[in-house]
Amino acid sequence: MKIHEYQGKQILKEYGVPVPRGTPAFTVDEAVHAAQNLGGPVWVVKAQIHAGGRGKGGGVKLARSVDEVRQLAGQMLGMQLITHQTGPQGQTVRRLLIEEGADIRKEFYAGLVIDRAAQRIVVMASSEGGMDVEEVAAKTPEKIHKVWVDPLAGLQDADALLLCERIGLPEASRAEGARALQGLYRAFWDKDASLAEINPLILQGDGGVKALDAKFNFDDNALFRHSELVAMRDLDEEDPAEIEASKHELSYIQLDGNIACLVNGAGLAMATMDTIKLFGGEPANFLDVGGGATAEKVTAAFKIMLHNPHVKAILVNIFGGIMRCDVIAEGLIAASKAVSLKVPLVVRMKGTNEDQGKQMLAASGLPIISAETLAEAAEKVVAAAA
Ligand code: ADP
Ligand code: MG
Repeated sequence: MKIHEYQGKQILKEYGVPVPRGTPAFTVDEAVHAAQNLGGPVWVVKAQIHAGGRGKGGGVKLARSVDEVRQLAGQMLGMQLITHQTGPQGQTVRRLLIEEGADIRKEFYAGLVIDRAAQRIVVMASSEGGMDVEEVAAKTPEKIHKVWVDPLAGLQDADALLLCERIGLPEASRAEGARALQGLYRAFWDKDASLAEINPLILQGDGGVKALDAKFNFDDNALFRHSELVAMRDLDEEDPAEIEASKHELSYIQLDGNIACLVNGAGLAMATMDTIKLFGGEPANFLDVGGGATAEKVTAAFKIMLHNPHVKAILVNIFGGIMRCDVIAEGLIAASKAVSLKVPLVVRMKGTNEDQGKQMLAASGLPIISAETLAEAAEKVVAAAA
């Protein structure tokens, strides 16, 4: 799950990381009030969308008067903001952050992710902060300094200070920089984040350190213990098909191809997508119906998959372990009728009650193409979609 910058800054503040004073705004009037309450002379009007690169796309603008704040807020609210992370259709701006303008002497970068190979959180920092950090990582990776943190000890003073020294933070500001990194680390840890980033982390004219941007991604599997994070969820920023899927506890991710896949188990779903590609096809989605899918769940899954107008054929690949093939067959028959299926449907079923499931599909009179092996199923669905 992702959150907005202003929400990320609330979290940073709780963990002692200095952030500029700022207020979220949903309307032009709220933006104007926010600016008046903050006081001048310089404000920054920032579009709040779940994507980065807003600065370059025109979603971060400086205002030198309350009137200018009003004008910029009017332009930004409702605009379709296109950045390198939104895709060409862009993302509608529905919220703003009105913030005091910071006195920037230099922009640094700080980011945390989980390094799965090392089984540790890696803290990354760079002197080359700001809007082009992706380019720095690609062209001059030696300018990104890293520390892998011992999970029992946490981010130690010495390591945090060393990072601050390596990125060239002046000596007088290093203690504050280190505290900011440690606060970011503790926030990451406590909130079960999968990514946390401050870009830019700035050095101010007066030597202070501040987070001018905040980005967090959280592990969905840990949200059950973070109602405070769930309350920050903004459904407007999420794909409607994925929201619908999550209501039915289905793991669904839309992709660019035209072959819809309904599979039980994430590993099998990935193998199915690989096999489709091996035979020259392109999957339209990843969909894991899980271990205990009911007929209702399969129907919901069909509806979600078929909402994608690019779908030309469906491949159902089920391994019946705990899941019974007859239950899936029942679901497929009900779903095909409920959605009055118009695209070819290829089904491969193996395992518990396989024969019973196949008999039910055959007796249903639906034009189902059946397959024995995964390769055969993929070949048939690619041909059907062509
Ligand atoms: P994004 O990463 O989506 O482009 P940022 O929040 O990082 O958005 O803002 C882009 C740039 O705008 C920053 O690198 C910084 O130079 C400037 N900026 C952002 N917030 C402020 C602020 N409060 N005061 C002054 N400049 C800011
Ligand atoms: Mg940024």
